[in-house]
Amino acid sequence: MTRGAPRIDTGGVWAPGVGLPDYHTHNSRCGHASGTLREYVEAALRRGLSGMGASAHLPLVHTRDPILSMALSELHDYVGEVRALQAEYPGFILLGIEADYRPDTFDDVRGLLESYPFDYVIGSVHYLDGWPFDDPRQRHTWDGREIEDVYRRYFDLVGEAAETGAFTLIGHLDLVKKWGHRPPRPLEDAARALAERIARAEVVVEVNTAGLRKPVAELYPDVTLLRLLREQGVAVTFGSDAHSPQDVGRDFDAALAAVREAGFDSYAALEYPPTGIESPDHHPAGNVGRTPRAIPTLRPLPDPPSEMTEAEASP
Ligand SMILES: [Zn+2]
Ligand SMILES: [Zn+2]
Repeated sequence: MTRGAPRIDTGGVWAPGVGLPDYHTHNSRCGHASGTLREYVEAALRRGLSGMGASAHLPLVHTRDPILSMALSELHDYVGEVRALQAEYPGFILLGIEADYRPDTFDDVRGLLESYPFDYVIGSVHYLDGWPFDDPRQRHTWDGREIEDVYRRYFDLVGEAAETGAFTLIGHLDLVKKWGHRPPRPLEDAARALAERIARAEVVVEVNTAGLRKPVAELYPDVTLLRLLREQGVAVTFGSDAHSPQDVGRDFDAALAAVREAGFDSYAALEYPPTGIESPDHHPAGNVGRTPRAIPTLRPLPDPPSEMTEAEASP
């Protein structure tokens, strides 16, 4: 299968992401990412990805921080820019957004999500009761915390996020480990409870490769959590969380291997139903307001690369 795969111009680099989509990408509008949306799309095409979702950070409603997200006034232009690229590359790019889940602002966030025609929404927890635990500028504020409590609170909020019905995908499922803090013992009960909540909510979990580029140096989520998700019948998909065009589709070979190791043989692609966009009744998740949404659809995982193909492709 791999040997017969179409030859794609990958810019001289064998592309492990061939055939997979990347649904988690940022761009210069996000304040802390570089590169235009067009540059991300072109990178995704060069690497042979099967599709790309733009998922800029939804403007934060509780604070204005130009480092963390675009301003509310830019949201309209972002949507227009993605729509224009969709017209140029039909079927390749989706209009997504990464939205924070925090209970105190969620009504406002839901309102914003309903005001725009997003194809899908990534739900992410970056705040624990107001604490921006993953913000590099706040790393010192971990000092003296009870790590087990932090993990339990984080898993709890992610479970709540899944249950809102507002999100198509859950972003970086175990982001709480980003700086390498570990609870004194494995929290299998909390992890299992989270997997069960996600399964009941029928939300897809992204395998996010950005963790490999952070101090923890692991995928989000790790293989243990992936196994729990598999046991519960949760579908997974892929995201690089690229903050520069060269990271689009990055480390998807590692993500694919981890997903296979955890026992998956399929992943969720986000697609419109064949009849077009009018099917408001059977959206399993992320069905907010009147907006038509792309539907998570199970597709077989591509074959892992054979050594032959890698050798053939490297000059
Ligand atoms: Zn995030
Ligand atoms: Zn992100």
